[in-house]
Amino acid sequence: MPDVTLPTAPELAGAAHVHSGKVRDLYELTEGPHAGRLLMVASDRISIFDFILDTTIPDKGELLTRMSLWWFEQLRDLVPNHVLSTDVPEGVRGRAVICERLDMYPVECVARGYLTGTGLLDYRATAPDHAVCGIRLPDGLEDGSRLPEPIFTPATKADLGDHDENVSYDAVVGTVGAERADELRRLTLEVYARAEEIARTRGIILADTKFEFGARPDATTVLADEVLTPDSSRFWPAAEWHPGRTQPSYDKQIVRNWALSPESGWDRASGEPPPPLPAEVVERTRARYVEAYELLTGQTF
Ligand code: ATP
Ligand code: MG
Repeated sequence: MPDVTLPTAPELAGAAHVHSGKVRDLYELTEGPHAGRLLMVASDRISIFDFILDTTIPDKGELLTRMSLWWFEQLRDLVPNHVLSTDVPEGVRGRAVICERLDMYPVECVARGYLTGTGLLDYRATAPDHAVCGIRLPDGLEDGSRLPEPIFTPATKADLGDHDENVSYDAVVGTVGAERADELRRLTLEVYARAEEIARTRGIILADTKFEFGARPDATTVLADEVLTPDSSRFWPAAEWHPGRTQPSYDKQIVRNWALSPESGWDRASGEPPPPLPAEVVERTRARYVEAYELLTGQTF
């Protein structure tokens, strides 16, 4: 099991720390007009292969926060979202949002328009049926193939240090009930379709993405967490898309490739975290995130 020791979340005046993930820190506001609400802070931490690296990527937290906010705007007519305000404490300005506290559904709602990652692993492991989360797919698909139509491939949320596990639609029905499961699938596919279409006009393929939804006290389903960032999605440059190999992507690929190269001296099988990143890898990774942000939103960072 990888080392999942978390860096301590910084103290914030007027907020109580409630949870830290690999990349983000969650607080509850204790003062001011939003007391009782959640403050979600995106750090500059980066994780690969479930290890949190010692090196941070400058501006990553702000880039991902801005990207997520931009997407929430593009999607607002499809589904309500949890964002209430970006008027956050000084120390986390630009990389935090104040959001409604929801009762989260314990389902990672994944949409896939292309086959790769754990989708591809499941596809191969279930030959000759070729099924992902119980959905049968055509023969002959390769890494990066476009699927006949986007599919809903839910996963269970794993505890820190564990991998999320793909589950069948029936398992989701068992967890949240038939009506909710149907709603989550419908929303996931609708939001994916909208986002995929927008990304396509920018020369970017949205291969797959993960959403998290939660319920308000009145049972309305709300889109939560971060959305459509390179940490929750696979974005590929459309011009370089060639099924049958690993696709170049707008995410941590630079870091992953470096860690796996002889240059890093890291042995993945050792169970040790990768060594600190060279400045040049940090800079190229930051530039990649900036590029994705600017291409997608049309805004300059
Ligand atoms: P990982 O690093 O693997 O993502 P994680 O999911 O525990 O681990 P984060 O994603 O940083 O860590 O944590 C954010 C947490 O906040 C998640 O558990 C997510 O489900 C939850 N969350 C997101 N939005 C809301 C919300 N509006 N109300 C309540 N909880 C939320
Ligand atoms: Mg998470």
